[in-house]
Amino acid sequence: MDASPLVARLAAVRERIARAAGAAGRDPGQVRLLLATKTQPVDLVLAALDADDAARAGDARLSPVLVGENRVQELVAKGPALAGRAPLHLIGPLQSNKVNAALRWATCVESVASLDLAQRLAARATALDVHVQVNVSGEPTKHGVAPGEAVALVREVAALPGLRVTGLMTVGANSPDPEVVRAGYRELRRLRDAVADLGVRELSMGMSGDLELAVAEGATVVRVGSAVFGPRA
Ligand SMILES: *Cc1c(COP(=O)(O)O)cnc(C)c1O
Repeated sequence: MDASPLVARLAAVRERIARAAGAAGRDPGQVRLLLATKTQPVDLVLAALDADDAARAGDARLSPVLVGENRVQELVAKGPALAGRAPLHLIGPLQSNKVNAALRWATCVESVASLDLAQRLAARATALDVHVQVNVSGEPTKHGVAPGEAVALVREVAALPGLRVTGLMTVGANSPDPEVVRAGYRELRRLRDAVADLGVRELSMGMSGDLELAVAEGATVVRVGSAVFGPRA
């Protein structure tokens, strides 16, 4: 496989993150890159991880990438090849009948949006990191708890054994107006600050099209697919 387009796109994304962090007066090392690998074949994901290893060998300030899958089926299929290479996050909705399969491979479930799901995870997990997903835009097609209910849900989930709420996650508004998108990311940060006493630190927000806005508002993880892998089939 010719990995050179991947190497160039990965470097371009790292550069975008570094510029956005610099503009916000932040250390780029505080922003981790999660590769959103839905629909991508495992060989391409491995090639991206190789490219990331090579880039980090030349720049010690870069932190290693994370990998995020949307569907449990893909997590299970790619898990054996990827688990030793990068932390695997589940970033798509999790149905209760797939909890066991998800727990086999996910080191973090970023899509917890109900107490019911959290309880099902807690019943089987020993020390699982989870993020509570918040629907900051209110768009009906988007998964996530409403912002007004997020703090209460975080407190309930944090009280369960077996789970650690390490962050909040959101998918930004689908709007051409950067101020609208940015306001949603600001809202997620405000919610994170409201539960900081529980040790909640991560803000997983920003994708290929808008990662600069998310970094400006404090993202600690940006989830990038197409800007690294090219358009999805
Ligand atoms: C696909 C996806 C991403 C990445 O989207 P791109 O626009 O391809 O960067 C990030 N987060 C979630 C939850 C996704 O489903």
